[in-house]
Amino acid sequence: MTSAAVNGTAAGSGGTRRIIVMMGAPGAGKGTQAERLAEALDLPHVSTGELFRAMIRSDSELGQKVHEHIDAGELVPDEITVAMVADRLAEDDAADGVILDGFPRTVAQAKALDKLLAKADSCVSAVPYIEVRTELLLARLTGRRICTVDDQHLYHVVTMPPKQDGVCDIDGAELYQRADDSEETVRGRLDNQLPPMYEVVDYYAGNNVLFSVPGDQPPAEVTEELLRLINARTSS
Ligand SMILES: [Zn+2]
Repeated sequence: MTSAAVNGTAAGSGGTRRIIVMMGAPGAGKGTQAERLAEALDLPHVSTGELFRAMIRSDSELGQKVHEHIDAGELVPDEITVAMVADRLAEDDAADGVILDGFPRTVAQAKALDKLLAKADSCVSAVPYIEVRTELLLARLTGRRICTVDDQHLYHVVTMPPKQDGVCDIDGAELYQRADDSEETVRGRLDNQLPPMYEVVDYYAGNNVLFSVPGDQPPAEVTEELLRLINARTSS
């Protein structure tokens, strides 16, 4: 169904299909910006994380395979991920384009995407890269604090600080940091995720579709700059 369906959507779509690939480290605000762009540009936000979760919920054979890989802490094999994205791109609402979020994660996946799009007489139109320096990523990713009495009372030392340091506004209980959010754990995660992301960034820079937007400005300004640059590149 995959390639035939992709070829189907290609007919008549000409060169106007907008395939936008979001790039950015964890904590750069990529998901939030992808959602805002999807709304502003009237394109579907295709998050591979959400596709994986939907697949697992569907309880299909493929969904179970995906679940096993994720449970084992492994990456989902490219062939599964690429097939899943191909199916999603073949859906009707993606005929005018998509905002891809979380894919491609490797150069091999980026090449697979190019191949897939070429079959449908299409290509990646723009790759916005939301750039945030590592120290700021760390501050964002390690800033979460949780109430020791009620774990629904959430704070963030940078974006949503409590009135008094380390104390819950609601019940006065002490706040703590989850081990997952510790600097050591977050640094380890970034050390694993950033090098392959930089390779993908370089790949798209080589194809002249990449542009950088500083991610250390207020989110609304990031959105504005992204829209201006995307529109300049995809409508002429
Ligand atoms: Zn509390």
